[in-house]
Amino acid sequence: MAHSRIHIIATGGTIAGEADPASGGVRYTAGVRSVDTLIAAVPGLAEVADISAEQILALDSKDITPADWLLILTCARSSLADPAIDGLVILHGTDTMEETAYFLHLSLPAGKPVVLTGAMRPADHPQADGPANLLAAVRLAADDTAQDKGVLVVMNQTPHAARWLGKARTTGLEAFESSRPWHDARPDGRFHEVDVSALPRVNILPGYAGAPAELIDACVAAGARGLVLALTGHGSVPAAWLPALRRAKEDGVAILRASRCAGPVIHNANADDDAQGWLTAGDLPPPKARIALMLALAGNGSGDTLHAHLPEL
Ligand code: ASP
Repeated sequence: MAHSRIHIIATGGTIAGEADPASGGVRYTAGVRSVDTLIAAVPGLAEVADISAEQILALDSKDITPADWLLILTCARSSLADPAIDGLVILHGTDTMEETAYFLHLSLPAGKPVVLTGAMRPADHPQADGPANLLAAVRLAADDTAQDKGVLVVMNQTPHAARWLGKARTTGLEAFESSRPWHDARPDGRFHEVDVSALPRVNILPGYAGAPAELIDACVAAGARGLVLALTGHGSVPAAWLPALRRAKEDGVAILRASRCAGPVIHNANADDDAQGWLTAGDLPPPKARIALMLALAGNGSGDTLHAHLPEL
């Protein structure tokens, strides 16, 4: 049987990291090793698939920006359009892996497998997890069962769906958790035709006891076109925020209620969303709701149509 051809796009992360000798091995720098070095460290990879690779970024994923998402999207779209490529693996830091994965989940076409992976231990760690994760990701990307699942992630050799996974722990190999099994995943490239040459600014505002309303005006003054409110409980809006939210709405800023709890935030259930003109996040956590709102705004959604663009709300 002919080998699959899997293309690897490298963006940095701990999987490409090296310990900082001055710290006695406690600290490390992400995104040091090249993709070719990482591939060479995985025995047996060439037996799983024909591999091609490109290094497009070398970042710690805490520093990834929406402009970087657009670069990754452009490279991923062009790789997937190449008939010689059967699937894609993206190497990425774990801190914001769920954000890049969900951004791509909404903006890539269905069909060929797309799998993100990374590592919790740097490449020069004696028990580095990166090589096994890379091998597992290439295997999954070459597997027919990964087709039409939307974007997937492999960590600790376990597959997850972009829609449902999140980084749940700061350390340890079992850092990622999903609310549903990856087998249930469906593709959701609802923005795959949107020409996203730029993404509008959308800020997340955390709700907590005594959270000040001034940050709302500051975000609008800084150019935000959307605000995701990461609120307490069932998306409860502090009374002190209402005047600033009304001003923001009058300025045309989209406002979306989300929760710092696991969700869901149900439309019109804990606030008069329709009367206020607010959107709601359902069970999307605030960083993913922000991505959906950015893409909906980039696709020129506004008012009522914006709600229709947003996932499972
Ligand atoms: N800070 C690192 C990053 O996200 C952590 C990791 O990759 O595990 O790039």
